[in-house]
Amino acid sequence: MNAPLSKASGCRDVPLLKERGQREVFCGLTAIVWLHRKMQDAFFLVVGSRTCAHLLQSAAGVMIFAEPRFGTAILEETDLAGMADAQAELDREVEKLLSRRPDIKRLFLVGSCPSEVIKLDLEKAAERLSGKYAPRVNVVNFSGSGIETTFTEGEDACLAAIVPDLPETDERQLIVAGALPDVVEDQMLGLLKALGIGPITVLPTTNADEPVAVGANTVFALSQPFLGETHAALTRRGARHIAAPFPFGEEGTTAWLRAIAHEFGVSEEVFDRVTAAPRDRARRAVRQASDPLQGKSVFLFPDSQLEIPLARFLTRECGMDALEVGQPYVHRDVVGPDIELIPDGPVFSEGQDVDKQLERARTSRADLTVCGLGLANPLEAEGLTTKWAIELVFTPIHFYEQAGDLAGLFARPLRRRALLKMDAPEGSLADLRGADT
Ligand code: SF4
Repeated sequence: MNAPLSKASGCRDVPLLKERGQREVFCGLTAIVWLHRKMQDAFFLVVGSRTCAHLLQSAAGVMIFAEPRFGTAILEETDLAGMADAQAELDREVEKLLSRRPDIKRLFLVGSCPSEVIKLDLEKAAERLSGKYAPRVNVVNFSGSGIETTFTEGEDACLAAIVPDLPETDERQLIVAGALPDVVEDQMLGLLKALGIGPITVLPTTNADEPVAVGANTVFALSQPFLGETHAALTRRGARHIAAPFPFGEEGTTAWLRAIAHEFGVSEEVFDRVTAAPRDRARRAVRQASDPLQGKSVFLFPDSQLEIPLARFLTRECGMDALEVGQPYVHRDVVGPDIELIPDGPVFSEGQDVDKQLERARTSRADLTVCGLGLANPLEAEGLTTKWAIELVFTPIHFYEQAGDLAGLFARPLRRRALLKMDAPEGSLADLRGADT
């Protein structure tokens, strides 16, 4: 059971093209869109500007049938000019909110570009407000500002902020960190429990009263590759990371489960019995969905922090050839096992200098370019086929049952392009604008 997967590069120390120029990504506030759905008794109070409020409102929509679980405390010009006591105003806003909403058990004060520019100390505010409202409400702060590297760092910062307050335990246990859609989380827990692994807790929990503790006998696995700070925070609490490729596709899911099974001494026989049927289903689904991807090239811009594990999936399970694999930040302790499995050849880039990277993308003209929303339409207009990276964060793509859908997400734009080529008069494709990717 513990035989390593056949390795391609076999090297996690691949050289990185490091770029620190202008970048085109959403800010960490975006993570509130999925975190507020996951954490049912939490409220995310962004301390920011009207721009921040607009971003959240347009990304998350309006909660019509339920009380909203996110909002923005707007910093007005007097706050920004230092003419008002922003801490006192924040206290008043929180007072109003919590007196109206007894259902809130966790309050996140979320920093933004404006609050960071005026150096509003939200850590101090969280400490003060926690003291005032404990034990009814736990107040924690984290940054979602665009000064950070990319939008998935919002979740990382949120989970990393929770870890220091977790109670201590000596119990031998598994924590799985990363917010997954409920249906996917249930599949994951079903597989781990069938392997006889437990006790298991998932971070973040749906409700504040679900017990999570951490200590020297805790091991943890990450279900999302963007959790570098959470990894560091759990390690500081004495927990040990189970490093593994991420659970995308059949191979990634098997390797991820295998690493945990090995840690908990699960026999090969049990492992095979539990995983054989879903592995088979996943293999067949990927084979069917990945047909248009075979032999095609892919260029991944740095956006979601999922790029390295997805490049591993696309090259090894879907027959693609990766030309460049960009990632906003490369944390080798986290994504090293995926890097090792990627066949030799692609440029690995970290960070972004968007103009230079666009030139490389235009020169290499990959069959599929995975990039942010802002770059997709201009590249489509230049005749490149694109996939919106953010869709990969909002779609269930982890574990066996989603493996075929994951391949299908990448296959769809290629299929669409092929259909358009059949229909369109020669030379007219460059006129396409705003195509759904
Ligand atoms: S946090 Fe910064 S980047 Fe994000 S919406 Fe607010 S001002 Fe814009």
